[in-house]
Order: sequence, then structure tokens, then C-alpha cells
Amino acid sequence: MTWARRRLYSVRKGLEGMKMTTQPKEGPGTGGGQEVTHRARRLCCSIAAAAALLLACSGAGVAGASGSTPRGLVILQGTLGALPGNQPTLITTAKRFKLAGQSAYILRTLQDKRLLNQQLQLIGMVGPDGDFVVQKLFAVHNGKLYRIQYYCSVCNITYVQPGHCYCCGRETKLQEVPVSSAH
Ligand SMILES: [Zn+2]
Repeated sequence: MTWARRRLYSVRKGLEGMKMTTQPKEGPGTGGGQEVTHRARRLCCSIAAAAALLLACSGAGVAGASGSTPRGLVILQGTLGALPGNQPTLITTAKRFKLAGQSAYILRTLQDKRLLNQQLQLIGMVGPDGDFVVQKLFAVHNGKLYRIQYYCSVCNITYVQPGHCYCCGRETKLQEVPVSSAH
């Protein structure tokens, strides 16, 4: 803290000192003035940088104290099924989970008949009513994860849920995109 205050103080002193030295600068009109504002802005930047550094330091302290917050997310892997009424389920080796979507588009994707009986990996958590609320889903083929999306090849538009293309009205195609290893 004292270090930062001293630094800000010296920067402020620098600003004052600069004004005094640059005021009698040669050149009629605005040339000298522009120079002053230019240099003043640079100094302001360094003040901002010092402040940002301080913030970053205190932020790091807070993050270090709390660590990476475990949000209680669960990963399930199993086969997608459906109950009468079109509620999706996931059949794992342990049990059959009734599924809900955290967003409407996730539920619509889980209700896509083309994904029935497919291996999926679901990330989410059990909700208050016992349903597993899905936040993210992937298709699994040979142990590899694929992102699920929908595509209209006529209009070259990608959608996050099944349905018809907003542009041409054709039904979109299910696409499974390999999740890059960097992800
Ligand atoms: Zn289209």
C-alpha cells in the first residue's frame, strides 16, 4: 500500500513538475499545449496502470483465499432415453436419471429423436425435484466428446437447438463437432 501511494505521489509530483517546465516551451499557438496534454495523458496511463496493478494484486489475494470454487457439478455418462410425454432420461450403469435442461434449447436438444439411444456425456446437477438439470451435453463416440449443434447447409447458419432454419424454413441437420483437445 505504502509503495503504491508513494508511487502515485511521485507521479503526481511529476505532473506538476512537467507543467512548470513545459509551459514556457517555444512555439506559438497550440503546439506546446498539445505536447503537454500528450505527455499528461501518458502519465495518466501510468497512474491507471499502477491502479490496475494494485487491483490485480488484491484480486489475486482473494482468489487465492477461496480457491477454485467447486460448484457441485456432476458429470454423467450414459444412454439417452425418453419417457412417455417426451421427458428425456439418461440410463447410466447406476440408475436412470430423469433429465431437465437448464435452458430451453438444452431440453429441446435432449428431446431430439435423432439422439435417442446415443451415448451422451452430461454436465449438470440434481435439482430440488430430483431431476438431473443438464447444463452442458456432449455426444460420445469411441470415448471422444462431440459438441452437438444444428446446421442449415443452404444458408450456412448454425443453430444450438433442433428445428427449422429461420432463414429458408428447411429442417436443420444434426451436427457433431469434435471437441478440440485444447478445450
Ligand atoms: Zn436455411
